[in-house]
Amino acid sequence: MTRFEGRVAVVTGAARGIGFGTAQRFASEGASVAILDLDESAAAEAAGRLELADGARAVGIGADVSDATSVDTAVERVVSELGGLHVLVNNAGVTRDNLLFKMTEVDWDLVMGVHLKGAFLMTKAAQRHFTEQRYGKVVCLSSTSALGNRGQANYSAAKMGIQGFVRTLGLELGPYGINVNAVAPGFIATEMTDATAARLKMSVEDFRAGVADRNPVKRIGHPEDIAAAVTFLASDEASYITGQTLYVDGGATLL
Ligand code: NAP
Repeated sequence: MTRFEGRVAVVTGAARGIGFGTAQRFASEGASVAILDLDESAAAEAAGRLELADGARAVGIGADVSDATSVDTAVERVVSELGGLHVLVNNAGVTRDNLLFKMTEVDWDLVMGVHLKGAFLMTKAAQRHFTEQRYGKVVCLSSTSALGNRGQANYSAAKMGIQGFVRTLGLELGPYGINVNAVAPGFIATEMTDATAARLKMSVEDFRAGVADRNPVKRIGHPEDIAAAVTFLASDEASYITGQTLYVDGGATLL
């Protein structure tokens, strides 16, 4: 018996990066998995790459997590196409970095919309099913940037907002058998951090090597590191944990 046999997990922003790595981990432990992403063809292609357990299924769905109609349609599709919903991972993300005096209102609204409103809309849509069945797991992606990071006032505020969001939902939804937690990654090798290297006019290799050198465990993180923490919090082994944020950063926040 694997941890997620018979369960359905939906992971947002999972066509690549941390989301895809997490979707793959759920699949490898028996779950049926829905990959939600902006572009339906990219989501479907990623769903086709998942290595599934016998009897499990995968679907790729195009959805914008910051749009209520898109979210409601997507969640209903997950339930009808995969036969239920047990785990939600709010992973979709964007960055629009700039110092405050150069940050535009558009960049502020986009980052808040995807991370915070996206987590709100997806969790609200999923909790209708979770409360009815008295079972559900929500894991949201925060970040070490929640603690403050130059050039990321929008992203940092959104990621600390996620921590308040899970604390509050831990209180509200605990009585209904629903656990709500967050994982706060440090540097993880994905297209998101590759884009940061490009912005800093550094090669990806040099950027990653510098981060690894400054990290207490002397390496950078990979999507599998986050997938391990997310699947633990989404498992029944973690049923006495709610409202918490787990930093997964190789000790970077200890410095
Ligand atoms: P990524 O490689 O950039 O992937 C993010 C995915 O989210 C992309 O497929 C993107 O689609 C999708 N997305 C963006 N806006 C969306 C929307 N409105 N609706 C649905 N999907 C949307 O990012 P990542 O590095 O894997 O990061 C995943 C999560 O971890 C994010 O929440 C991020 O903030 C967090 N995180 C990452 C790091 C890190 O070091 N990588 C550290 C801390 C926290 P498009 O390609 O079409 O835009």
